[in-house]
Amino acid sequence: MKIYEKAPAKINLLLDVMRKREDGFHEVEMIMTMVDLADRLEMEELQSDSIFISSQAGYIPLDEKNLAFQAARLIKDRYNVRKGVYIHLDKNIPVAAGLAGGSSDAAATLRGLNRLWQLGISEDELCTLGAELGSDVPFCVTGGTAIARGRGEKLERIPNPPQCWVILAKPPINVSTADVYGKLRASELKQHPSTQDMVEAISQGSFADVCANLGNVLETVTLQLHPEVLQMKDIMQRLGADGVLMSGSGPTVFGLVSKEAKVSRIYNGLRGFCKEVYVVRMLT
Ligand code: ATP
Repeated sequence: MKIYEKAPAKINLLLDVMRKREDGFHEVEMIMTMVDLADRLEMEELQSDSIFISSQAGYIPLDEKNLAFQAARLIKDRYNVRKGVYIHLDKNIPVAAGLAGGSSDAAATLRGLNRLWQLGISEDELCTLGAELGSDVPFCVTGGTAIARGRGEKLERIPNPPQCWVILAKPPINVSTADVYGKLRASELKQHPSTQDMVEAISQGSFADVCANLGNVLETVTLQLHPEVLQMKDIMQRLGADGVLMSGSGPTVFGLVSKEAKVSRIYNGLRGFCKEVYVVRMLT
């Protein structure tokens, strides 16, 4: 038996860091939503007790370092599943981009194997399992739009933001999430984005207010380390995107655009500076 599961990318409309905790993690407050750029997972049951991963993307690990592998092993161990699975990852989400591609693959694996092996695990329990794999995995299990607190695993669902175009541009650089958090001095942050104002903008369906309240404190670190990201933000702003922000720890920058007429101009303008540009919609 074979099943398919979609693993969409996430963007952070807001990312705030409150403080560094005693356990080394950061206490965050994020507003996350999904966009319709997605990996596609194919899962086939194996009678042997083993996990195999394959992918057309040459640059991700296919062994136990792969988050989909880790998700499959976790669910097998926890629910005593003696069968195996072959997972093919059709990767479309750029890797190490701040779009939670790996986390979304892990979440899709948990959802898919719950179906494939008819385990009857509740969504809450899948989120709890997901939190063992990474802070963004619980959100990727549920999807939609949510405020994430704690280290990202405590979710409060909120309505979806108003529909719009999302233009993603990934500069050709690697950003280490650990490095960015390591260099962040949370206690010295001068400005914090307002979660409350963003939630209000979303619940009123005000696209202009959503754009006005975008904020990501990790920009203070990544933009200094990688001026290319700042340059990409400037270009997107100059080309007329309504709201522009870096997603996660970067390097992907996204622009929100309400009018379709502007989209191709911005896309074509960006393509002159950056090879990896995607035009997608919010997943609402
Ligand atoms: P986040 O936004 O959650 O920080 P990201 O988008 O920055 O995530 P990912 O694409 O999830 O980053 O990849 C981060 C690292 O995880 C990569 O270096 C990659 O080698 C590894 N990895 C493990 N499994 C996967 C997977 N299924 N897809 C992509 N990368 C994976």
